[in-house]
Amino acid sequence: MNLTVIGTGYVGLVTGTCFSEMGNKVYCVDVDENKINNLKNGIIPIYEPHLATMVIDNQIKNNLFFTTDLREALNDSNIIFIAVGTPQSEDGTVNLDFVFTVAKQIAENISRDSLVVIKSTVPVGTGFKIKKILDENKINNVNVSIASNPEFLKEGVAIEDCMRPDRVVIGTEDTKSAEILKELYGPFVSNHDRFIFMDIKSAEMTKYAANAMLATKISFMNEIANICEKTGANVQNVRLGIGSDKRIGYKFIYAGCGYGGSCFPKDVKGLINTSLEYDYTPRILSMVDEVNESQKMIIVEKIINKFGSNLSHLTFGVWGLAFKPQTDDVRCAPSITIISELLKKGAKIKAYDPKAIRTFKYEVDSENIEYVNSKYDVLDGADALILITEWKEFRSLDLDELSKRLKQKVIFDGRNIYSKRIEDEGFELYQIGC
Ligand code: NAD
Repeated sequence: MNLTVIGTGYVGLVTGTCFSEMGNKVYCVDVDENKINNLKNGIIPIYEPHLATMVIDNQIKNNLFFTTDLREALNDSNIIFIAVGTPQSEDGTVNLDFVFTVAKQIAENISRDSLVVIKSTVPVGTGFKIKKILDENKINNVNVSIASNPEFLKEGVAIEDCMRPDRVVIGTEDTKSAEILKELYGPFVSNHDRFIFMDIKSAEMTKYAANAMLATKISFMNEIANICEKTGANVQNVRLGIGSDKRIGYKFIYAGCGYGGSCFPKDVKGLINTSLEYDYTPRILSMVDEVNESQKMIIVEKIINKFGSNLSHLTFGVWGLAFKPQTDDVRCAPSITIISELLKKGAKIKAYDPKAIRTFKYEVDSENIEYVNSKYDVLDGADALILITEWKEFRSLDLDELSKRLKQKVIFDGRNIYSKRIEDEGFELYQIGC
């Protein structure tokens, strides 16, 4: 099949590449010329395991093309994916400008009957607005159908998720569109049927409900952690105690310093705003968001309790800037809140992340942050170590190295990955809910 994927970001680049891996001919289109030129030369704009090799291989096989020329791509495709960003606006609503602009551009350039598939996360009802834009602006006499196909990939394991999805949700209003997408996704679900067909509005809602559910689990567990801390219980034990119940499960019940990323925060807020537009006040969702915002401050509060509110004489070593391991994405990462707050209180920061230093520099600019190239270099002259992102390389501690380099043997563990046993070696360990 010949496809166009519009928007070559985390979702568009990964899904376009995976479609090409299955032998389809894929055009990845973006307005960012620099990004497209780099991709043509094998330079990948994001860090995602296995992605670079697959992009290069499929370019060599002539399955994968990068271009800024939408018309050229549309001329040779009959399935068009919209995968542009849907960021949060200042007022918390979902900014659909990119999606609507793309819909208009498709209408103005399309020259053959096509199926337009909305992969971007969009509020309920957006698909029909896109259909209206397509119909009102198309210059050629062609039939354009629409479908919703929300994306559930997780950054860090995006290729795996894309090649072997848990489910493929397809929202359509006509059988032909459903059949086309079934054929396209067939090779990805060949060992057993994982298609879930539904109407377009329900597919759009499914994506928000999935992210809201996962965010709710995290905020719930963070709340339990905070209660544990007050009462003397240990949230790690409680996690094992409840996770063993199959109805609850072990996933997404880790206490920590809050969720971040380009999806959970904006999608929870987006769903709250959609509800309000329809005169419904969501109570659980508002609290999920509120708990998460305060959870990002938990580490800062612990630091103030230990060192006082004037941190101007102190330096903190930070491990991990990405919103989670295995990605360079720092959008809405807890590291941004934590480091910004510490800087406001006069602290100096030495930071290390295996992949996210470049992206973090765009978000927080300060002469009081020094970036270093190895995890132990952050410790030199630091008064404490703060673990924010649980990359594998941070999981084992060389206590001799820590003792030699840290000025004070103090660790703030924002992800509860360290054993209390290190307290026997003279370290002060501050964790979440235990
Ligand atoms: P992104 O910001 O990484 O990428 C968006 C890309 O679209 C950018 O490269 C931008 O230049 C391009 N673009 C903007 N306007 C364009 C236009 N008119 N024509 C061509 N390209 C254009 O975004 P992302 O993280 O890939 O997310 C895309 C969508 O997928 C969002 O709705 C997001 O909520 C959803 N989603 C994201 C993830 C994730 O983990 N990142 C997972 C599931 C769903």
